[in-house]
Amino acid sequence: MDIIRKTEEIISRYPLCNTCLGRLFSSLGYGLENSQRGFALKTMLLMKAYNSLEEENNINLVKKLARSGFKPAMKLLEEKFNTSMDENEVEKCFICKGLLEEESLFKKISQRILTSLREIESKTFLIGVRVDESMVAREMQVISDFGVETSETLKREINRKIGKIIEASSRLKVDYKDPEVTVIVDFPTGNLEVNIKPLFVYGRYRKLVRGLPQSAGKDHVRWDAPPKPSIEEYIGRPLLKVTRGEEVRLHGAGREDVDVLTLGSGRPFVAEVLRPRIRCIDLNELARRIREYSEGKVEVEDLRIVARSMVEKIKVLSEKAVKLYRAIVTFEGDVDEKDLKSIESSFKNILIKQQTPLRVLKRRADKVRSKIVYYVKTKKISSNTVEFLIKCQGGLYVKELITGDAGRTRPSFSEILGTQPRKIVLDILYIEETTRGLER
Ligand SMILES: [Zn+2]
Repeated sequence: MDIIRKTEEIISRYPLCNTCLGRLFSSLGYGLENSQRGFALKTMLLMKAYNSLEEENNINLVKKLARSGFKPAMKLLEEKFNTSMDENEVEKCFICKGLLEEESLFKKISQRILTSLREIESKTFLIGVRVDESMVAREMQVISDFGVETSETLKREINRKIGKIIEASSRLKVDYKDPEVTVIVDFPTGNLEVNIKPLFVYGRYRKLVRGLPQSAGKDHVRWDAPPKPSIEEYIGRPLLKVTRGEEVRLHGAGREDVDVLTLGSGRPFVAEVLRPRIRCIDLNELARRIREYSEGKVEVEDLRIVARSMVEKIKVLSEKAVKLYRAIVTFEGDVDEKDLKSIESSFKNILIKQQTPLRVLKRRADKVRSKIVYYVKTKKISSNTVEFLIKCQGGLYVKELITGDAGRTRPSFSEILGTQPRKIVLDILYIEETTRGLER
């Protein structure tokens, strides 16, 4: 490819600024700004024309160069031909209308981005640019007219220019893979869209009172939503405050019934903070605030910052996690000690077949699940009250294991005892820690 000839053809048809001309040849060589490439190409053309100025077409070329705002060409016209070029004869760059050489515009846009980034405590960022469509279309026209194959996109050039200013005037670093903040800027209007990466906090919670749901409802925890007593609220509100986020959503490794306690080492969860302004938080202090805000109803431990993928991991693993329950059950009739021994001996590594319980049938598909009960231990408290310890696979409906759910769960405790429970008080004593080694 004869670069000089191609440049001559292009500049003869379109007035282009140094930057837009240089960008058409961007892939040729390293360590150069496009504006430097453009300046060099125009200089070469001018020297070529100067070599034989008596030729008509060379005079025209000088005029075309001057038209594109190339000062040395204007100077040559003035000195040699005594034709000073009027300012308004200089045409604006066909592609960018001169905007790419307006340093003040880039400074103004960068300043705006910096101001919005300053409100967020982040270390890494990435700029995305949306370029005015007509500008892109004009560039495509030039590229297709001359079959240019060495150009880079307007978007990339604008992006680089802004990124440089921001890196130079702040401590922020560009991160292409996983930036904490992404700023989408419209060029040339400078309108911004700031996207902040959510923050994910892993932990395990203990629920120490009955009657508390896990979820705060469809609005989760937000500044403008009234607090609804729940695990999500008690963990989410203090987290919302310390991160100055906009919303917190709780993802639990399964959930206990409203009337069930979760004790022992607790249930794994990931709290997702949307649009956090602060990412670096004191997790011990957070745990203290959660206990204080919930007035001891909820405790958390083992808090740490994790990747988004942890949400999916705890959900999948909760299906398999082994759990230990304690159930204190009061039956309608008296309970025979012999039958309790029979429960202990028969519910040992046994497969339980459960058809979806009647009480959740509205929300869940009707199907038969097979879950393992590893062991059951019994302790008679009164003639009709028994404490059971039940170790089983995650996903087993424990209440139905006791009641039999009108024959939908088999075998069941009631089936053996020959009496139905009047009251069941259920606690989760232990959830197998399934997430060790899965921090990242
Ligand atoms: Zn231009």
